[in-house]
Amino acid sequence: MQIISTRSEAIEATSAEAVLRGLAPDGGLYCPRSLSDMGVDYKQLLDMDFEAMAARLLCALLPSFSLEEMEELVHRAYAGKFETADVTPTVPVGEDTVLELFRGPTGAFKDVALSILPHLLTAAREKCHQKEDILILTATSGDTGKAAMAGFEDVPGTGIIVFYPQGGVSPVQRLQMVTQPGKNVQACAVMGNFDDAQTGVKKAFGDLSGAAALKEKGLVLSSANSINLGRLAPQTVYYFKAYGDLVRRGQIQVGDLVDFVVPTGNFGDILAGFFAKQMGLPIGKLVCASNQNDVLTDFLRTGVYDRNRPFFRTCSPSMDILISSNLERMLYLCCEDTQLIAHLMEELKQTGRYDVPAGLLIKLKRLFFAASCDDEQTKKTIGRVFRKTGYLCDPHTAVAFEAARQYKAACPDHHPVVILSTASPYKFPAAVAEGLGLCCEGDEFAHMEAIENHTGRPIPPFLGNLRQMPPLHEDVIPLSDMERYILEEARL
Ligand SMILES: *Cc1c(COP(=O)(O)O)cnc(C)c1O
Repeated sequence: MQIISTRSEAIEATSAEAVLRGLAPDGGLYCPRSLSDMGVDYKQLLDMDFEAMAARLLCALLPSFSLEEMEELVHRAYAGKFETADVTPTVPVGEDTVLELFRGPTGAFKDVALSILPHLLTAAREKCHQKEDILILTATSGDTGKAAMAGFEDVPGTGIIVFYPQGGVSPVQRLQMVTQPGKNVQACAVMGNFDDAQTGVKKAFGDLSGAAALKEKGLVLSSANSINLGRLAPQTVYYFKAYGDLVRRGQIQVGDLVDFVVPTGNFGDILAGFFAKQMGLPIGKLVCASNQNDVLTDFLRTGVYDRNRPFFRTCSPSMDILISSNLERMLYLCCEDTQLIAHLMEELKQTGRYDVPAGLLIKLKRLFFAASCDDEQTKKTIGRVFRKTGYLCDPHTAVAFEAARQYKAACPDHHPVVILSTASPYKFPAAVAEGLGLCCEGDEFAHMEAIENHTGRPIPPFLGNLRQMPPLHEDVIPLSDMERYILEEARL
């Protein structure tokens, strides 16, 4: 399988190189040229357990690794690390199915990919005979940061710096990051929003990759964001896993189409769904669910991507994003025209907007349905879903529940619907308590207790215990200081 940059066919990489580097040298994203000829037969995967399924799919997407190597990496990443042995359980809720992706060590769907990424990276480093240590730079809208810090904690030969928007993550998300131990991990607030942080990280890649200061320290840069193919590939697994669950429960026959509703920010999770579809899994529509930052909803309806609009801080902060990086891969895979992608991305950089050709928009509309909702609807949905079904969901998942409602109303001939649940409700206790109509005084932990008393769902200990943990990372810097910070503060 050939992997190229979305912006130039001349830039090629093996899958190990793509994982190791994170971002292509021209600023594009590493992407498989084609996903349909990988020799994956989904029917043979459906009866396998999560680990066996993951090893096969990851091996197809990252063929630098043999099946034996991948089985070993998968086992090290997942065995005993998640609440349930099947890693990503599915739960019938009303007439739909919820795919729970938050049963990992930090309560976020990012755990699925970030549990294995450190193992993939260190294995890729060996495969490529790279001597330098790896410095991971990551921008986070809240969840990637903690999941990546936990994944890389004390992994030899790696260090990680996480940049998060000051005031732009939930208080619990912030506490999770600033209390994370490990001598090679750091979190730093930047004075800007997520888009600023992500742009700063991408710029640092460009400016620092060949920098003498890094060479002297024996460091090369990589990324734990979903711009890294090694982040994306593990996310395809749970689409297959969920499909297998539906077959096992007799809700569908093998071959029936299933629709997936995905709370979306950087377009990584939903792109993994598209990967799964291209690899042969019978997926009908992918529903792109956005909060009030509805740049993707508009784009998928009109073909015009325009980030020149107000930025809202919402109660689903991990989706407060106006520049969805992975859309670039989606567009490339739909048109296979790297020149067009390079042109569109340059326009986005210069003017903040672009417009795709009509033929491309038609393809996108066939694949996706887009819907969005504001904070008020989100909180109402948390209450409505709990009252109607007894299911407790976080605000990001609530956005998906509301998008599913809009989708089913607009498309009565829809297929069975799977809603991706991306975070533990206890990461966003203030919004969840409000949605449930619990009026309570006090801090995040008081809200957690009120929710637990009302719903009977236990507070995950790793969130409840945050109250007692000392803060370890309290730096706050202006955006203009990111590169200096990286050069001076990096610890391995
Ligand atoms: C990151 C995140 C999302 C968005 O996923 P993308 O891959 O960025 O589209 C949704 N919900 C939660 C809770 C997240 O942490």
